[in-house]
Amino acid sequence: MSFVVNEPVPRPGILDIAAYVPGKEHAPGVARVFKLSSNETPLGPSPKAIEAFKHAAEHLELYPDGQANELRNAIAAVHGLNPANILCGNGSDELLGLLCHVYLGPGDEGIITEHGFLVYKIQIMGAGATPVVVKEKDATVDVDAILAAVTEKTKIVFLANPANPTGTYVPVSEIRRLQAALPRHVVLVLDAAYAEYVRRNDYEAGLELVSANRNVVMTRTFSKAYGLAALRIGWMYAPAAVVDALNRVRGPFNLNAPAIAAGAAAVRDQGFIEKAVEHNNLWLDKLTHALETLGLRVTPSVANFLLIHFPEVDGKRAEDADAFLTSRGYILRAVKGYGFPNALRMTVGTEEANRGVIEALGEFMGRPA
Ligand SMILES: *Cc1c(COP(=O)(O)O)cnc(C)c1O
Repeated sequence: MSFVVNEPVPRPGILDIAAYVPGKEHAPGVARVFKLSSNETPLGPSPKAIEAFKHAAEHLELYPDGQANELRNAIAAVHGLNPANILCGNGSDELLGLLCHVYLGPGDEGIITEHGFLVYKIQIMGAGATPVVVKEKDATVDVDAILAAVTEKTKIVFLANPANPTGTYVPVSEIRRLQAALPRHVVLVLDAAYAEYVRRNDYEAGLELVSANRNVVMTRTFSKAYGLAALRIGWMYAPAAVVDALNRVRGPFNLNAPAIAAGAAAVRDQGFIEKAVEHNNLWLDKLTHALETLGLRVTPSVANFLLIHFPEVDGKRAEDADAFLTSRGYILRAVKGYGFPNALRMTVGTEEANRGVIEALGEFMGRPA
């Protein structure tokens, strides 16, 4: 046999994907670095999670429980859910990918929003489908714009609530309106990675919407408020048919044993999460106020990060601020790829890091803080 091409060729569309670029972590030549580029918690995980992780290290020769029962049961108990409707993933990123793998194929469309999390686009394209990007309003997801983009080809809608990198949220009344108007076969994915931080009466992560409908799923993560990003733990609350479909294609041992043990211990320690949220929300307010006082515009955030907009003036743009802050050891996230060429995203850090950024930006803006 003879073939025209002499090397393996990826499916059409794969090489059109721009690989995900994680937040920077180094500031060359700076001794002390504060990484505020990946929305990691400054408080680390619960000590109980660390203890469980160490204990799990004593049995690394054993395969993990492929159903992650200990973790699913702990999540179910804390949130008042049926464990049969919970599926865990190697980070919620894995679950986002599995949803695309299962519900999308060539010719299908997945709706994402203007400033949406880049993983959605990557996974839609990875499944051979077409991402359809809709506009946002004031850096906030616009339900009407999503509905206007629905076609016969639409199979999935991705919405982060709160959203990253904007930190804005959509009230539950709007999410209900979206669900009610979507065709019943379209999967509505509510990515609630930052739900723990939100203290607003009109916000819901999506539990009730999932319980009441067959086409809504909610994804969550242990990477943010729980401080376990290194272990890669996500979970999904979904209708039984969705859990069943994803269970058929996922890796049989997609969560490792130390992750299952540490995750279960972490979710049981809700007192720790309360303290983490308290620290975050205190500093979210203080940082917003301080940065606005410096003349910077900040998008109102309910998450653990802030989107800071810089003046359209040479020497004062986001790029300049990024270089200045990095030279001082403060690493923020450039968000050009998210449609914000002149903004930086800052994760809420320790008190020391937060005060340091305020002081450095005061100097950068020419006004002492
Ligand atoms: C951080 C983040 C996640 C979490 O991803 P993991 O794979 O669970 O670490 C998911 N969605 C959004 C929007 C995020 O910002």
